[in-house]
Amino acid sequence: MRCPKCGSRDDKVIDSRQSRDSSSIRRRRECLKCKYRFTTYEEIERSDLRVVKRDRTHEPFDRRKLAGSIAKAFEKRSTSLLTLEDMVEEIVHELETTGREVPSSVIGAKVLEKLRGIDEVAYLRYASVYQRFQDVDQFVDAIHTLGHRVKTNALQRELFPPETAQGESATVPARSRDAAINKDHGRV
Ligand SMILES: [Zn+2]
Repeated sequence: MRCPKCGSRDDKVIDSRQSRDSSSIRRRRECLKCKYRFTTYEEIERSDLRVVKRDRTHEPFDRRKLAGSIAKAFEKRSTSLLTLEDMVEEIVHELETTGREVPSSVIGAKVLEKLRGIDEVAYLRYASVYQRFQDVDQFVDAIHTLGHRVKTNALQRELFPPETAQGESATVPARSRDAAINKDHGRV
């Protein structure tokens, strides 16, 4: 810490104490060159990240909600909680360093980006279920991005296991779902 009096960068901490609510630490320092004493405060950088939703309304970022949506995509997949937690941690960190307001679509894109490298099925589930087919093109693109490594039939079975197929995809008629998966845009 640069001395406010002489500009020297060498100082020593002569006292250090926490604030009453432990949210900050106050340090008393002494410049080694001119002996001037000054005080610094260290506190946690609070995240007041806000999410801008599709309808333009804002809401506070909810870490648990993010973790929950990712966990759901991993349902019945063999992915450890540790991987999940790491992923959430990374995403939160990236969001916090980009700005105070973040569109929900950016969060979704980040999740997809991470999922792609971890689990293809979870990736496609997230792309389909959580975006609720609002953007079919994006889903089709997602499938194309994966190439044809995943066979369509196997994919459908994996994506919509019987017990979730009723609840999650009920909003989407089966016909449009099939159409989305089989549709070939030819723009890979
Ligand atoms: Zn000094």
